[in-house]
Amino acid sequence: MTSCTDVSENGRRQILVADDEYINREMLENILADEYDILKAEDGEMAYEMIRQHRNTLSLILLDLIMPKLTGLELLVRLSEDPELKGIPVIVLTSDQASEVESLRKGAFDFIPKPYPQPDVIKARISRSIELIEDRQIISSTERDELTGLYTIEYFYRYGSQFDKYYPSADRDALCFDINHFHVLNERFGIAKGDEILKCIARRLQSAFPDTGSFVCRKAADTFLVYCPHKDDYSDIVEQVSAVIEDLETAVKVRVGVYSFCDKKLDIHARFDRAKIAADKIRNNYSVSISNFDEALIDAELYAEQLVEEFPKALAEKQFQVYFQPKYNIVGDKPVLSSAEALVRWSHPTLGMISPGKFIPLFEGDGLIAQLDEFVWRRTAEIIADWKKRLGISVPVSVNLSRAELYDPGLIDKMEKITSDNGITPKDLYLEITESAYVSDSDQIVDRVKSLREHGFFIEMDDFGSGYSSLNMISELPIDALKLDMLFIRNAFDKLNDTRMISIVIDIADYLGVPVIAEGVETEEQYLALKKLGCTIIQGYYFSKPVPANEFERFLLEKGK
Ligand code: C2E
Ligand code: CA
Ligand code: CA
Repeated sequence: MTSCTDVSENGRRQILVADDEYINREMLENILADEYDILKAEDGEMAYEMIRQHRNTLSLILLDLIMPKLTGLELLVRLSEDPELKGIPVIVLTSDQASEVESLRKGAFDFIPKPYPQPDVIKARISRSIELIEDRQIISSTERDELTGLYTIEYFYRYGSQFDKYYPSADRDALCFDINHFHVLNERFGIAKGDEILKCIARRLQSAFPDTGSFVCRKAADTFLVYCPHKDDYSDIVEQVSAVIEDLETAVKVRVGVYSFCDKKLDIHARFDRAKIAADKIRNNYSVSISNFDEALIDAELYAEQLVEEFPKALAEKQFQVYFQPKYNIVGDKPVLSSAEALVRWSHPTLGMISPGKFIPLFEGDGLIAQLDEFVWRRTAEIIADWKKRLGISVPVSVNLSRAELYDPGLIDKMEKITSDNGITPKDLYLEITESAYVSDSDQIVDRVKSLREHGFFIEMDDFGSGYSSLNMISELPIDALKLDMLFIRNAFDKLNDTRMISIVIDIADYLGVPVIAEGVETEEQYLALKKLGCTIIQGYYFSKPVPANEFERFLLEKGK
């Protein structure tokens, strides 16, 4: 079978000119005939018949929008609905700017304004379109996202930019919608249901932004972008989109980052980066679902640069301190201290105490984390050794590992050296590895973790529920405890009081034969509920905030009594 981009018999590409005005047809033929074979149609029906007849040889259609029998827009719709015809590129000929955008949305590839520009401009535009479309068919990128039918990101940016060109002074907003904890829904309800959720959100977004000047696309998994006329308030829309999905037990919570009154001098990608920055700011905040971009977020980026720059000096000057937070075993009548987590703090000479939530992600991006963690591990080992020696008592302390460190072939030697240098054993030092570290490239990581475990280190999977691992995968993993992501606790005890997710995780842990550690436990109510659900170990402000080593001694002494 020949494809629609095959050239006609004589080796020249074929173009159909569909225009009811004789003079227009002649003019275009004149301009193009030395390079292309030209077919001509004088109304919409005739054009349609000719397109069907020549579908295997036509390279391009030049289409007038206003024609008898069948208008250009109607014809575009017909073409887009016919799988045999929809691959043939159409350039629309029009004098009406509003119709340009409309026809692009209906599937036109480009347009040529009337009155016609210079012949050279027309020729250049046509040959470029043919080239692009042929390339595009080769790489077979598509305009529509297969799952949801929304625009793909490439087309979304293209149509958005096209719109700006013609309405440069329109007030526009860039929005970035994200579904909270979508992967957990996927895990809980299965992929097929997850897909249904995405389709439902897509439909809701489309009906929330019905006008021609609004564009909606799915950017990645559960991220949707909208480019639309400015609105002061999006709360109705967020509510509409987040509404309970029938036959699903949980409402889907959606958050949106809003960049209002887009600065058109910024490239369209950058405008959506800003919307995304705003959306990410409330990623972990369950009470807020709309976040507006403001310049302060850019200031935050400058602050980040400062921290990265100052890191070497801070490390040399010992500005970093290790704090300890107790973990209690709650199975018996009385909670018993079972271990602790080492958490780093930066005591900065001018900025004060900085929390690791601010600098760890930066250092992970910049490769500085390995130096910092080695410092934390060493310091922790020293402190454990000191407790043993001075107090005759200690508990195992877990340290955090970052994903990049698991790629270091020297990691195990380093860990063993740290313990032996300080006269402690691997049993004294637990390792917390975040769930998301296992996800990509997992074979290599899993092997590394396995061998850490074979060397006697106890492995806790941190932030469980925040990564993307499947049940299948977890059962293969070398772990000794599951540490529940704090957001499960937040969610479970917000107004919904829905602890089912926690029960599911406890079931998973039982199946794996490992204990569940809940962190971020702040109230007695939470503590009692978790105990009832079968959770083994608890960490959180309910018992204590992370404290400096000397303050932690009181927990040890109490246990030693
Ligand atoms: P994480 O490992 O999940 O640590 C738990 C975080 O929850 C700690 O925040 C802790 O202070 C906080 N937290 C504990 N109990 C409660 C509670 O009841 N309520 C609330 N709201 N929060 C509670 P922190 O110390 O700010 O650490 C943040 C993250 O930074 C850690 O999350 C960990 O991913 C990373 N991190 C901390 N220290 C290190 C380190 O030495 N190395 C590496 N690689 N990462 C670290
Ligand atoms: Ca941790
Ligand atoms: Ca955690």
